[in-house]
Amino acid sequence: MAKVKPTHSPKSDVYHDNNKCTERNNIETRNIKPGTGGNRKCKHCKDLDK
Ligand SMILES: [Zn+2]
Repeated sequence: MAKVKPTHSPKSDVYHDNNKCTERNNIETRNIKPGTGGNRKCKHCKDLDK
């Protein structure tokens, strides 16, 4: 796993910071925005941190 810069989708209320996160990889390229968007961290990304 690898930590990456936080990204989020405006359609979602979470952000992702792990490149192995399947949810992150499912975000359509045009919907990928940099930063956390003020969102909480994605559950999958949290699990991948362990
Ligand atoms: Zn995630």
